[in-house]
This record gives sequence, C-alpha cells and structure tokens, in this order.
Amino acid sequence: MAIVMKFGGTSVADAAAFENVARIVAAEHKAAPVVVVSAMSGVTDSLLKATVIAATGDAQRAFASLENVFKRHEAAANELLSDTKREGFLKQLQSAADDISQLLSQFAQKPSERKALQDAVVSFGEILSSTLLAAVLNQSDINARPVDARRCIITDDEHTCAAPLMSESSTHTQNELLPVLEDGIVPVLGGFIGATKQGATTTLGRGGSDYTAALIGALIGASEIQIWTDVTGVLTADPRVVPHAQTIERLSYSEAAELAYFGAKVLHPKTIQPAIENSIPVRICNSREPEAQGTLVGPQAETSPRTIKAIAHKTGVTVIQITSARMLGAYGFLRALFEVFDRHRTVVDVVTTSEVSVSVSLDEAGALPAMVEELEELGTVRVRKGQAIVCVVGEGLRGTPGIAARAFSTISDINVSLISQGASPINFTFVVYEGRVVEVVTRLHEEFFATKSTK
Ligand code: ASP
Ligand code: MG
Repeated sequence: MAIVMKFGGTSVADAAAFENVARIVAAEHKAAPVVVVSAMSGVTDSLLKATVIAATGDAQRAFASLENVFKRHEAAANELLSDTKREGFLKQLQSAADDISQLLSQFAQKPSERKALQDAVVSFGEILSSTLLAAVLNQSDINARPVDARRCIITDDEHTCAAPLMSESSTHTQNELLPVLEDGIVPVLGGFIGATKQGATTTLGRGGSDYTAALIGALIGASEIQIWTDVTGVLTADPRVVPHAQTIERLSYSEAAELAYFGAKVLHPKTIQPAIENSIPVRICNSREPEAQGTLVGPQAETSPRTIKAIAHKTGVTVIQITSARMLGAYGFLRALFEVFDRHRTVVDVVTTSEVSVSVSLDEAGALPAMVEELEELGTVRVRKGQAIVCVVGEGLRGTPGIAARAFSTISDINVSLISQGASPINFTFVVYEGRVVEVVTRLHEEFFATKSTK
C-alpha cells in the first residue's frame, strides 16, 4: 500500500527546501510514497501576472516579467544537480520558456481562448517543480520518476477551475502510477493541473495541489495522505493569541471542516472530500519539523482525552439585528430577509432568531449601506461593527451541554451575543466585541487546556 506526500510551494521555495524534501521522502521510502508537489512559492502568482500583461498585448514584457521565475529554477538546479542531470533539467527549462513565450504571444490574438491559454501557462509552475524535484530525489539516490499529472487527472473543460472526472481519472492514474510503484520507483507529480479528455491542459483552482493529493490518494487507495506545509499541524487556538497553543493530535473530518471556515491553516473541506469518501486519513506535517507528529485528520470521532479540540475565532465581523412585530406568527418573513442578503451576494455566518427579531453575522461589510436600506423595509435595523466570532469545536460536544455552560461561566463578565448551539453537534459559536476577543479566547483556552499549558 502506498502513501501520498504533498509538498506545498514553501516546501520547495529554493535549493535548501528541495534538499529538505528529499530527506523527508527518503525517510518514508519504505511506505511507497507518491509525491505531489506545488509550484515553487510565488511562481503561480508570477505566471498569472504574466498572462494579465500578455492580455494587454505586450507579450514581450509579459515574458520578461518571468525572468526571476526561470532564474530561481536554474539556481536550484545548479546548486543541487550534477552534470547530466543538470543539463537535462536546464534543457527542459529552456523548452518550457520557449513554450511559455509562444503561449503568451497568443493572448492578444485569441481573446476567446484566454482561460485555456492561462491554464497552459500556469501549468508550467507545477511541471517544472515536479521535474526538478524528481531530479533532486534521483541525485540523492532515491529512485524517482516525474509523472505528468495531466496523464492522471482527467477533468471537464471548465478552465481555471476544472472538476475531475472520476472514472477516467481512476483508470489513467492507476495505469500511470501502479507500474511505477511496483518497480519500487517514487512517482513525482505536479499538483493543481489536469487535462481534458481531448488533452487540453486545465487547472483545479488556486491551492488545488491539496486536492490533487487527495484525489490521487483516493484513486490508488493510499493508506495515508500527508500534506507537508510550514506549520505544525492544526493548533488548539491561534498562536498569535495563545502563544502556548498546542498541536491537536487528532481531528475528525467534521472537526477539520468546522475549523477550516475560521481560516485555521487546515484543509479546505472540498479538498479532502475524496479522502473522506474513502476514509483515508490525512496528516498535516511541518517540513521544518519533520519529526513532529503533526495533526491526523481521520474518520474516527475521538472524544477523549479532551472534550473539545480547538477554540477558533475570527475578527472583523458585523452583526445586523432586524426587529419587527410583523415577524410574530407570520410566514415569509425570513425568506424576504434572506433574499436581501442573497441579492447583495453576502455570506451570512451565524444566525439566531427570537419571536420578533433576527440577528445575523456577516464577514465583510462591503454592501452594508444598500443592504441596510432594504432591510429597513422589513423592520428596525441595528448594525454593530467590530465584532468577533468565537467557535468552540470538538466531537465531545455531541450531547454534552455542560461544556457550553462551563465556557460561558468562564467569561461571564463579558457580553456574549448570537449564541448558536446545536446547529452542528460538534461546535458552538457566539459573538463578542472584537476588543475582548483575545481575552475570551485566552480564558477559554486556559479553562479547557490548562493541564498541558506551559504557564
Ligand atoms: N500552485 C498553485 C497555487 O499556488 C496550486 C497550489 O499551490 O496548491 O494556487
Ligand atoms: Mg501555492
């Protein structure tokens, strides 16, 4: 059985980072790793910028803007590879540069094909990083082979955010990877990229390499998917607020999904869907601390030894309260209300209702004045900006109401609004004034995690 090891852009930022990856892969050699890698950090952004310049008609300036991208690859190759391997890679780099230059010059001529051209240009980030990484692995005596991810991940033709076609991808991925693994060779693929059935290059959307890793893991039935990044797994709270926050050893898929919304450096729920469907555990590891266990996200809902897993928070939240006697015993009111948010394409996070009022929290307050005007047709509107959402997450909350009481008594002197409990059995969420959120999170962390705190 194989494992998938995915390395993000910062894990292959320069020569030293590539070498570090080689050490990490070497340590897992016996587990039959399949390596998935992002473009070198910043490269996708640079390639995208070049396509924007090219669209203005200045293909030459677009190409010139990529000088540093090519130099970084060259520098890493010069530092890490010896004669024939270096020459081989530099030749590929040159031919990639020629192809990119060609593609950029087509931007002005074929405006209707821009998205397809864009995918073709940005795909070189992952094509180059994966070829270079395979060469670096070989240089350090790990038998590795670059595999073009476009021969594995077959997608629809929604350029820039293509969706994989599972049955086609399954056949192709197995045909491409299994023989390589059987020969004891480490396949190295670029994340993020795929191809349509007709062979046109596509991409899966920004940050798509995690998705590739999960897909590959599911398609070859891997025993574990490792996401290597630059943080030590998922923490019990934001370390900027709680400096002694600890790494959470295990999370269920649903706990990870709850935390993802708070921008905890966790996986996007969509990303790990293929892993969830196949019950494959996902481990988040730190390339700067490879010995650490990181966080294992898996199907088991582990409720002990701790009841809650994390206290997440998010600032910059606006709360809107709409009060109207019309709501009492009437139907259609909530629909009218939510239609306002819908029209303004505003995402509502927490909602609480009483008989005559509804409170909602919003992330950005962009369309606020226009929205308030429309809401005022429904009732009295009160807007409070500068609020923060606090979210306590843990499978242990399922049917353990005492925890919420314990949490609130810890912060009983602080004004809490919009309490939402029960919508999800594994979290409860509330809103406090932004200015007190640090205190709230710190005190809750102290209350629930004090035993292991270093204080
Ligand atoms: N290189 C792509 C991006 O920056 C994909 C990824 O890194 O996951 O969006
Ligand atoms: Mg990236």
